[in-house]
Amino acid sequence: MSPIKLVVIAIILYIGYRLLTGGKKKNKAHRPAAPLEEDSPPVVDILVEDPVCHKLVPKKQAIRLQHKENIVYFCSEACCNRFVSKEGEKE
Ligand SMILES: [Zn+2]
Repeated sequence: MSPIKLVVIAIILYIGYRLLTGGKKKNKAHRPAAPLEEDSPPVVDILVEDPVCHKLVPKKQAIRLQHKENIVYFCSEACCNRFVSKEGEKE
């Protein structure tokens, strides 16, 4: 066997090897990174309704009150106080 033939065979084997393994390598390259802070969604300016005066208030500016299992939003502390005193009368 001549040395040139050996080189050709080596090249063919090398190309075959690359074809077999090349595809697998690509799959490993791009793994999507896990999204950060999945449990804290971006703050969006949602309008919430004040249950006392029925005004729509941007959530960011609203007065928050934990009421039973829900959070209630108010346009002002005055409305919040009115709601709390109203709830107090009920019970
Ligand atoms: Zn209000």
